[in-house]
Amino acid sequence: MKAKVAINGYGTIGKRVADAVAAQDDMEIVGVVKTRPSFEARIAKEKGYDIYTPSDENHAEFKKSKIDVNGTLAELLEKTDIVIDATPGDTGEEYKKLYQEHGVKAIWQGGEDHELTGFSFNSEANYNDALGRDFTRVVSCNTTGLVRVLFPLDIAFGVKKARVTLMRRAADPNDIKTGPINSLIPDPIKLPSHHGPDVNSILPGIDITTMAVKTSTTLMHLHAINIELKKECSDLDVLGIFEKRPRIRLVSSKDRIKSTAEAMELAKDLGRPRGDMWENVVWKDSIAINKGELYFFQAIHQESDVVPENVDAIRAMLEMEKDGTKSIKKTNKAIGIK
Ligand code: NAD
Repeated sequence: MKAKVAINGYGTIGKRVADAVAAQDDMEIVGVVKTRPSFEARIAKEKGYDIYTPSDENHAEFKKSKIDVNGTLAELLEKTDIVIDATPGDTGEEYKKLYQEHGVKAIWQGGEDHELTGFSFNSEANYNDALGRDFTRVVSCNTTGLVRVLFPLDIAFGVKKARVTLMRRAADPNDIKTGPINSLIPDPIKLPSHHGPDVNSILPGIDITTMAVKTSTTLMHLHAINIELKKECSDLDVLGIFEKRPRIRLVSSKDRIKSTAEAMELAKDLGRPRGDMWENVVWKDSIAINKGELYFFQAIHQESDVVPENVDAIRAMLEMEKDGTKSIKKTNKAIGIK
């Protein structure tokens, strides 16, 4: 029997997770929750997803737009094993009680605090700890990207300390309200930024400090990473570690990928849905050991890197697969990560 998955919050993350879940042979989408009628709601219908709303109050608007609604979130939860809450940050916590009342497991996103679930998830770092859990938070796009590189480096060489500067995209491409359109904003001004402590919600032993700058781009985040390792190693050793990780895509400037724009073009040329790049894009020719410390650049596609992690979190929480490596392989194969 397939796991029955609901999506509450069908926006940037929710609609991508819905498609990734639908692509798996061991889970299915039982419904998606929309607050308002929109082109996204129409396309969701065309894809065969049933539409639900947070309450009856939203139905009139959908009726006017001639989009059929199947019921309310509470009704949807009655036929759901697990809900992906991809509502905007700090909104999802309002729903916790409702999920509990319906005995439905829930996965929130990085916009919620770790304390909401008491457990934060990354497929490679702590799959086993998610087995059977009722509530989990898949960490943010930046934190997911950082954990994906820090975790294997820590296992191989030991991370003594990590110092990271994040150049953050200002807004997602569909967001017409958020700026800046011509500025660089230290964000937050008061350092360090929250990203380091967020990494520690999964990897508590890592000494990491982060600072972030909001930049006028919508495409991707760019991380400039400096790590002091406990064991001596070469750039080739580091490359060897990254080559083995299933969600790191190594690129090279020699291949004319010199920017986030070209990294996104690569995703489109690969035929990825919505031009998504689920993997960390690490420039292999940026990997350098200088005075005993490791340096490299990576780009993170904020709209999509957490998507496969949500799929694995479902498998772990419903104990459909006890082995994280097998789940990662299955998820990757179904969506097309080679
Ligand atoms: P979004 O604004 O694109 O989508 C949120 C969706 O939820 C929208 O469709 C909105 O209409 C709907 N919604 C709003 N209020 C609702 C409510 N009360 N009940 C049900 N639905 C409601 O947001 P997003 O970018 O997809 O972010 C969702 C979560 O994922 C946040 O926690 C965010 O921090 C996290 N996240 C976002 C990104 C990113 O870059 N976009 C990356 C990683 C994690």
